[in-house]
Amino acid sequence: MSASLINMAYIGATVLFVLALSGLSNEESARRGNLYGMLGMGLALLVTIFGVVEDNFNMMLIGLVVGGGIGWILAKRIAMTQMPELVAILHSLVGLAAVLVGYATFADHDFVFSGVEKTIHDVEVYIGILIGALTFSGSVIAFLKLSAKISGKPLMLPARHWLNLGLLVLAIVFGKLFIEQSAAGGGLEPLIWMTVVALIFGVHMVMAIGGADMPVVISMLNSYSGWAAAATGFMLSNDLLIVVGALVGSSGAILSYIMCRAMNRKFLAVIAGGFGGGSTKSSENAVDAGEQGEAVSVEAEEVAQMLIDSKEVMILPGYGMAVAQAQHSVYELTKRLKDKGVCVRFGIHPVAGRMPGHMNVLLAEAKVPYDIVYEMDEINEDFPDVDVSIVIGANDIVNPSALDDPDSPIAGMPVLEPWKGTTTIVLKRSMAVGYAGVDNPLFYKENTRMLFGDAKATVDAVVAALT
Ligand code: NDP
Repeated sequence: MSASLINMAYIGATVLFVLALSGLSNEESARRGNLYGMLGMGLALLVTIFGVVEDNFNMMLIGLVVGGGIGWILAKRIAMTQMPELVAILHSLVGLAAVLVGYATFADHDFVFSGVEKTIHDVEVYIGILIGALTFSGSVIAFLKLSAKISGKPLMLPARHWLNLGLLVLAIVFGKLFIEQSAAGGGLEPLIWMTVVALIFGVHMVMAIGGADMPVVISMLNSYSGWAAAATGFMLSNDLLIVVGALVGSSGAILSYIMCRAMNRKFLAVIAGGFGGGSTKSSENAVDAGEQGEAVSVEAEEVAQMLIDSKEVMILPGYGMAVAQAQHSVYELTKRLKDKGVCVRFGIHPVAGRMPGHMNVLLAEAKVPYDIVYEMDEINEDFPDVDVSIVIGANDIVNPSALDDPDSPIAGMPVLEPWKGTTTIVLKRSMAVGYAGVDNPLFYKENTRMLFGDAKATVDAVVAALT
């Protein structure tokens, strides 16, 4: 395949990736965005396989079959609720690939550079392995936290900021040694030491981040995996990989910024870690909450009657709706209420669920019309006019202590404010805390009623009781 044909195809793939990203920014165009992404990736693979690769076809074929097979099986098996941890573990693979490519290019004596070119190549290898290693270990920890295999509480080592600074200084020192030794034909030792340092840094960085701040970590690791791919592109002199890596890296960085703004956090403060772990003060609040009064439970029939008597209903879904797979039942409830002349709207918190856009994906899957689904900022002012808010499997995103209690681990995070309406119905299985491990005074408010049970079962029961 001629070089100009390859370049043209790469430009075509890049355009498709840009269209994919712009399509994915909106629910209505997301399906089309996915299609563009698949076409772009298909084109990129075809051109690379038939135009760029010159030998070792058998090894490549084995890689394609094994990698594609694992991807296929995972995509078939993974439940929607496991999506966030799947994304985290996939990021780790991008990081690992960057590390392996880095070592392979370092060891490959076909890359014969000298002088400044050699230094530039060494810097590419060094940075590629550095970003790859910390993306790898950080993503593995994020996977373990999201799948609840390890605690979501932040690990607060004494002098942790000094530890981070020390690791950074070590990475710079090993970088200098690597460039010097590589020029003389060596360099493997400082490269290995830097890899160890980067792996420790990745582990420490994500371990120090508390439950409520995990959304930022996920988008940040997404961004890192993009930069790791771009670094791999530099090492392999592959323009498409550089461009695509930069696209993923920058869109992940923008998403991290949006998530930080949504949670009223400063990016550097999140990375420094320590938020969202629960505190003594928060358990004191649990007692306070108990002293505020008892949580009052209701039955599905009473909820149905309250809904029939309402004019304005707001549905606030959270992670529990995903766990219960209640989205189709929720849509059925919406249809029934609309048929009865009740105005139903959805309020979506930016960090509801376990990944950015989690609730939007579920509601779109259940075919809930987009024009009744609102972002938190668009509807938070409307709660005083709402007759009944139904909180479905949500907890942290409707926790008033984020606004009232400066000592709360989620203090300062904007939340949905259903307690300002006439009545709030909370659908969950128990009085258990949410992801951030913080007690929720909403459950004890005078105008709150608890409908206990699995969200799908309780929504179905309410639908059945709507006569
Ligand atoms: P939460 O985790 O705060 O609360 C979910 C609630 O759902 C739980 O209290 C649980 O209570 C209930 N629940 C679980 N299963 C069911 C079920 N089958 N039926 C009914 N209820 C159920 O979720 P939110 O969506 O309110 O908040 C998201 C949290 O996750 C935030 O802290 C956010 O920072 C964090 N996070 C978000 C990410 C993102 O990108 N969106 C990524 C990582 C973390 P019970 O057990 O009593 O039923």
